[in-house]
This record gives sequence, structure tokens and C-alpha cells, in this order.
Amino acid sequence: MRIGYGWDSHEFHAGIPLKIGGVQLPHEKGLAGHSDGDVLLHAVTDALLGAIAAGDIGTYFPPSDPKWKGADSVTFLQEAMRQVSRAGYTVANVDSTLILAEPKIGPHAAKIQGRVAELLKVEPAAVGIKAKTPEGMGTDNAAIAHVVVLLVKNSGKGSRPKRAVETVPQPEIDRVVNDLIKEVPEQPKTGGKTRR
Ligand SMILES: [Zn+2]
Repeated sequence: MRIGYGWDSHEFHAGIPLKIGGVQLPHEKGLAGHSDGDVLLHAVTDALLGAIAAGDIGTYFPPSDPKWKGADSVTFLQEAMRQVSRAGYTVANVDSTLILAEPKIGPHAAKIQGRVAELLKVEPAAVGIKAKTPEGMGTDNAAIAHVVVLLVKNSGKGSRPKRAVETVPQPEIDRVVNDLIKEVPEQPKTGGKTRR
């Protein structure tokens, strides 16, 4: 088992869409960032990478790279999930706390929970979505997310060590396998005795 923790914050700016947990919420302000500013998905991504000690979101998606300008944060999370899978783990559960003055998260919590669960390949019951207002913190113009995630090692069959294999691109593997299949002459299905 591995535990991971992630934290993120973004500032509210008027006139941009608000995305939290991969869900677009109706609000007059959105979260500014190099990407779509999805504070929750960024914290989840960092928690996943942290759990396997594989750096952080900036390691894979440096803000200096114009390629990620306005990027959908789902891309970031999916890369973290790929790293988790390569390391031989799957997500057991995740818990999160959002801290923001507005909008109210309650009415949207189930939708966010469902979307995050889908992205993490777990049941909604394995995703905690909690929200608080920033009492006394003076961060009314920001959204903050704290996330912890628990990973479990893939067990038994179906969990081959993937690290070495995945360095070869899949189309290349397919080509080699197809060539091998062509070269092997058809085997007799029954009998079992060696001919000749
Ligand atoms: Zn962020």
C-alpha cells in the first residue's frame, strides 16, 4: 500500500469557465492557470504521483511549455494514472477537501464525485468530496484543494511488471507478434506425438 498527498490553489478570475474535478460549474468566475485551472484534478494528480514517488505535475507538464496552455487537466491525471499503473498499483480510495468561499460545492458534489471516480477507475463510494469556506484565512478569491489517495499493489495474475515492456511502443510489439505467428506452422490439435 502507498499513500499520496496533493495540494493546489488557483485564483478566481472573472469571465473564464470554472472547472472543478473535471466538471464545469456555473459561476461568474473561473480559476486562472496555465491549464484549465482545475484545482481538484491538479491535487489528485500530485497525490497519485506522490504515492509512487514519481515527482509532481510540473515534472511531466512544465508550465513553461506552451503546449499545456489551456490544457484539459484530465490529460494530467491520466498521465499520473499511467505512471501508477506502470508502477503496479491501482487506486483504493481518495479523499479531498476543497476550500473556497463560493460557489457552493454541495449541489455539484455528486457529479464531481462521479467524474473523479470515473477518471480514477474506482466506484464513487471510493471518492470523498468535501468542501469548506475559508474562515479567517483571507483566501476568498482562491480555491484550494487538499487530496489524499491510497494505492494498493496489483495482486497475482494480470499484474505483470509493466515497466520494461512499456518501453517498446505497442504497434512495434504487435508487428513482432504478428510476424512470429506467421512463422509458426500450424500445430496438430490432438495426438500430441511428435511426428517423424
Ligand atoms: Zn493547479
